Amino acid sequence: ALILGIESSCDETAVAVIDGAAPTLERRIVAQRIASQDEAHRPYGGVVPEIAARAHAEVIAPMVGATLADAGLALADMDAIAATAGPGLIGGVMVGLVTGKALAMAAGKPLLAINHLEGHALSPRLADPTLQYPYLLLLVSGGHCQIIEVQGLGAYCRLATTIDDALGEAFDKTAKILGLGYPGGPAVERLAREGDARAVPLPRPLLGTAEPHFSFAGLKSAVMRARDAGTFAAADIAASFQQAAIDCVVDRTRRAVAQCGPVTALVVAGGVAANAAIRAALQGVAAESGLSLVAPPPKLCTDNAAMIGWAGAERFAMGYSDSLDVAARPRWPLDADAAPVRGAGV
Ligand code: ATP
Ligand code: MG
Ligand code: FE
Repeated sequence: ALILGIESSCDETAVAVIDGAAPTLERRIVAQRIASQDEAHRPYGGVVPEIAARAHAEVIAPMVGATLADAGLALADMDAIAATAGPGLIGGVMVGLVTGKALAMAAGKPLLAINHLEGHALSPRLADPTLQYPYLLLLVSGGHCQIIEVQGLGAYCRLATTIDDALGEAFDKTAKILGLGYPGGPAVERLAREGDARAVPLPRPLLGTAEPHFSFAGLKSAVMRARDAGTFAAADIAASFQQAAIDCVVDRTRRAVAQCGPVTALVVAGGVAANAAIRAALQGVAAESGLSLVAPPPKLCTDNAAMIGWAGAERFAMGYSDSLDVAARPRWPLDADAAPVRGAGV
């Protein structure tokens, strides 16, 4: 099936055409466009919701037309329209969802209201057609930091979450503390390559605890104290921060692997999964337990519409569709109406 995917939950406006039946990643993504708003938000050091919503509204309709033209297809050729319905910045989500509804109505096609986190969670299956359910997913993004047993489409069992900041948020705050600007994750990764990861003593919150939850607020505060001390090079702080984060991720993921049911693979997704050092460390965790690591190419880790179109393709194949009066949701936990939360209930 051919699915038009639309994503606008944060600061990328993205549109894609997905062929759900195609055998390879290259052919599955028939066309995709991403318009980043980085320049618009940079002066403010973070995403400004009102600016984001306006910017989405300005570009989304022409982007739909351009992406269909790239694909050499018309709206009438689509089998369904998939749009992110949450969670995210509500103004932006509404722009994309209303666009999806209007296109679905105009073309007489079914609408699929997609959970942005499901897009991230299933993106590894878009990237690697051999990846089967169930798999153990580390979902690390700007707003989320969770370990989930993905048992099937719509069946997500959360094993762990963060008790304070998300991992991407920790990268973004570290970038801000070090004056690296916005967006922060890639800048911290770049600077970390020039630093000594053992130079600055930093905490590893929750390391070794029984439940595989995360905490990064204390690490961020320690980064701030290290900067304020004035004795460490920024590159050494960046490298030491990244190493501390990796140590936490490795320890927590190891624990989750030990606790979860049988899985086909260890999988990482979300914007932070673009980080090469984190991918390499997780490769080690997977190898220890005889699992393979599946990590989408970096461009499919950060926000994009291909993953939304793909989640739509999986839902369409199962016969799902959503009503045109479905609401945009600023908060929408992945496991809310699917599987019960396992573990400590944080
Ligand atoms: P969510 O998906 O939780 O709603 P989001 O959509 O804003 O949040 P994503 O686009 O999935 O988040 O990911 C963006 C996050 O990933 C940012 O916090 C960014 O700093 C981080 N990130 C991107 N690239 C890298 C990298 N190379 N290293 C570390 N972090 C990165
Ligand atoms: Mg972004
Ligand atoms: Fe995201």
